[in-house]
Amino acid sequence: MQDPNCLFCKIINGEIPSTKVFEDDLVFAFNDINPAAPVHVLIIPKTHIPDNNHVTAGDEAFTGRMFTVVPQIAVQLGIAEDGYRLIMNTGRHGHQEVPHLHLHLIGGQPMKHPMG
Ligand code: AMP
Ligand code: ZN
Repeated sequence: MQDPNCLFCKIINGEIPSTKVFEDDLVFAFNDINPAAPVHVLIIPKTHIPDNNHVTAGDEAFTGRMFTVVPQIAVQLGIAEDGYRLIMNTGRHGHQEVPHLHLHLIGGQPMKHPMG
């Protein structure tokens, strides 16, 4: 299910352009527009989940896939061996800006501290 007013739903649809790095039936991954490091990818479910507080057991296929595609994307982008950060922000204190669940995959040097 999608939210027609959601920025990341519009990116999934192609209504708003993005640089795609990976896509399958459950997730979409694209470059962050304001990267904190040479590699900064956002991995999002292809269904509108506002944040981690709204994740339910019925979302496990989406949330599981968000993590299981990481090794593949990390190899694709050349950061698997040296490592990376995975960050998911939730709500105001978590500095979440976009209310569609997303996992930040951040790698390479230099890397800005991404926690704000
Ligand atoms: P968060 O603070 O965890 O909600 O992260 C939202 C991320 O989305 C930020 O790192 C933004 O740079 C990124 N972002 C916002 N708009 C776009 C966009 N149109 N394309 C790609 N990344 C975006
Ligand atoms: Zn959305």
